[in-house]
Amino acid sequence: MVRVTDSAPLDVDLALLGGGGAASLLLAALDRHDVRDLRIAVVDPVRRRGQDRTWAFWGSPDPDLDPLLSASWPQVEVATPARRRVLDLTPLRYAMLRSGPVYDRAAVAERRLHATRVVAPAEAVTDDGTRVLVRTAGGPVVRAGWVLDSRPRPPARAGRTTWLQHFRGWWLEADRPVFDPGRAVLMDFRTPQPPRGVSFGYVLPVSDRYALVEYTEFSPGLLTDAGYDAALAAYRDLLGLDPAGLRVREVENGVIPMTDAPFPARPSPRVVRLGTAGGATRPSTGFTFSAMYRQADQVARVLAAGRPPVPEPAYPRRHRWMDAVALRALDRGGVSGPEFFERLFDRNPAERVLRFLDGVTTPAEEVAVMNSTRLLPMIAATAGDAAHRLRDRVGPPRPVPAIPAAVVGGASPT
Ligand SMILES: Cc1cc2nc3c(=O)[nH]c(=O)nc-3n(C[C@H](O)[C@H](O)[C@H](O)COP(=O)(O)OP(=O)(O)OC[C@H]3O[C@@H](n4cnc5c(N)ncnc54)[C@H](O)[C@@H]3O)c2cc1C
Repeated sequence: MVRVTDSAPLDVDLALLGGGGAASLLLAALDRHDVRDLRIAVVDPVRRRGQDRTWAFWGSPDPDLDPLLSASWPQVEVATPARRRVLDLTPLRYAMLRSGPVYDRAAVAERRLHATRVVAPAEAVTDDGTRVLVRTAGGPVVRAGWVLDSRPRPPARAGRTTWLQHFRGWWLEADRPVFDPGRAVLMDFRTPQPPRGVSFGYVLPVSDRYALVEYTEFSPGLLTDAGYDAALAAYRDLLGLDPAGLRVREVENGVIPMTDAPFPARPSPRVVRLGTAGGATRPSTGFTFSAMYRQADQVARVLAAGRPPVPEPAYPRRHRWMDAVALRALDRGGVSGPEFFERLFDRNPAERVLRFLDGVTTPAEEVAVMNSTRLLPMIAATAGDAAHRLRDRVGPPRPVPAIPAAVVGGASPT
């Protein structure tokens, strides 16, 4: 690692602002695609290391990613008060990736790419259409051909619906076999449902004695610290786990925006936003990893081919619209969360639902997915969304609500 502390301008081809999830996946992809002839800077006041989050995602087995996984499962369970269904994901698999191996892989890539690390926050970014100047607090001015910016930031304007996905997880170690490492619990809606929002628990076992057990809410506001603990303890009890035989080894907290507010992916000609800041967080689920991974690979491929580092949009426009409608229907109480997901999984093959949630289905498959939801509330939400869009176009701009800038979270040992 090179630390730059004097004030000489640093000339690079590519400046990565933010060195978290999106940037780490990008560094690994650049290394994997053998992009060797670019001068690269990574600007972040924090050098990400170790365990600060756990990514869960689905997809096809992947030779680059799979050696880094802590666990993967060919089957997942989706539970509602009415029934517990086991879904066979083949040919996909559900996977767990802890942040430590991702940051380690990125550090190796950074060295091999001879990237310069600027340990300072990036501040003003000025794009004149040919170069981008990045001022940093206490570090050099960085002059870059292109900027890939994944710093957390608020949306460009308020959304029509602004929810949060917020959660707490316990890494539980049991003194005897209590978990089934053959399958993960994807969503368990048997938790008490909040008055406005959706709640569920999930279980990601890495062995028969060790698992991440989480309580999650999709709702407009956060719980108190004691509220998360109480909800998680209640979920542990619902699973029939005896607290006397368990130890909490780590605690993981997070807040992820769920909103139809816009996160512009290309704010100026030579600045591209990645990660949550670039719209990679799917508004209806909070899942982000697959889109970040996909975009990292696209950016590396086009750079390797000598083209500008601009990925495809994280999700097609029609998916963003469907998400806006689904979020609205959930928020305005037209549809209950457990019922919404139950019908999706009841009436579609699991693989189609998961690919839909990743934004990679065909329009025909999307019609099938939308037809499996209750149509009347969806039509009402569609009409409400259209009216709201019209009001947005003709009315004064609404203030951006104080949602956490993008994502906060972390894990800590107990
Ligand atoms: C605890 C947790 C668990 C999650 N689990 C999942 C999951 O299971 N599946 C899933 O799909 N998604 C998950 N997410 C959502 C998402 O995948 C992650 O938040 C992911 O890390 C987003 O990557 P990012 O690069 O956009 O942001 P981050 O990883 O947060 O990186 C942003 C970086 O910007 C840096 N930064 C901040 N200010 C500045 C500045 N001024 N200048 C330079 N750098 C700056 C920060 O230090 C940070 O390193 C989770 C999120 C959290 C918090």
